[in-house]
Amino acid sequence: LLVAQDLHKSFGRTRALEGAGLTIRAGEIVAVMGPSGSGKSTLLHCLAGILPPDSGTVTYRDRELTTMSDSARSELRRTEFGFVFQFGQLVPELTCLENVALPLRLSGVKRRDAERAAREWMARLEVDAVADQRPGETSGGQGQRVAVARALVTGPKVVFADEPTGALDSLNGERVMHLLTTAARETGAAVVLVTHEPRVAAYSDREVVVRDGRSRDVEFVR
Ligand code: ATP
Ligand code: MG
Repeated sequence: LLVAQDLHKSFGRTRALEGAGLTIRAGEIVAVMGPSGSGKSTLLHCLAGILPPDSGTVTYRDRELTTMSDSARSELRRTEFGFVFQFGQLVPELTCLENVALPLRLSGVKRRDAERAAREWMARLEVDAVADQRPGETSGGQGQRVAVARALVTGPKVVFADEPTGALDSLNGERVMHLLTTAARETGAAVVLVTHEPRVAAYSDREVVVRDGRSRDVEFVR
C-alpha cells in the first residue's frame, strides 16, 4: 500500500535518515522502534508526506508522493491518511466534537453530517462525554482518544501515530492502544506506530527497528 525506498534526509549537518525503507501493507499494524534520535519521527513524517526527503521515494498505491504537487499531496493526506501525535494536535479553541468533525468540515462535509459522524466516532472511542468540552478541559487519556477519533473520522487507509501514548500512564496508554487498534482492524486501516514502549509495540503485527537513520525489518510477526 505504502512503500518507502532508500530515504535520505539531513537537517543541516545532522543525517537523520541514511537509506531507510519500509513497506506497509493494507490493514497491517506496524510498530517502528529504535533509540532516541535514530530517525523514527523523521521516517514517519517522510512516509506521511509531511516532510520531503532529500532523496529516495515514497509511493502510495502507485502514486509517488515526493514528486506530486503540494496541493495533490495535501489532498491525498486529507483523504487517505490520519494522524495521531503525542500531544498538541487538537485545536484548543474548538470543542472536542468540533475537533473530531474538523477533517470532514475541511473536506466540505456539511456541519450536521460531520458532527453526526464525529459523535459516532467519539462514542466508539468512549469519549462522547467530553464532546462539548475543550481539549484543555479533558484528561490526557481522553484527549488522545479524541485525537484518535479525529484521525479515523475520514475513513483513512493509513493512520500515522508518533508516540500516541507517550504522555500517558500505562493504563491509559493501553486503553488508547486497544481502542485505536480495534477501530483500525474494523475499518481495515493500516497503522504505522512509532513507540519506545514494548507494551505498546505488542499491539502491532510486525516491528521495524530504526538505527542511525537506517531501518531494518525484523520479521517479528505475531
Ligand atoms: P525520539 O525517539 O527521541 O523521538 P526519533 O527517532 O524520532 O527520536 P528524529 O526526531 O527522527 O528521531 O530525529 C533524528 C535526528 O534528526 C536527530 O539527531 C534529531 O536531532 C534530528 N532532527 C530531527 N528533526 C530535526 C529538525 N527539524 N531540525 C534539525 N534536526 C532535526
Ligand atoms: Mg520521535
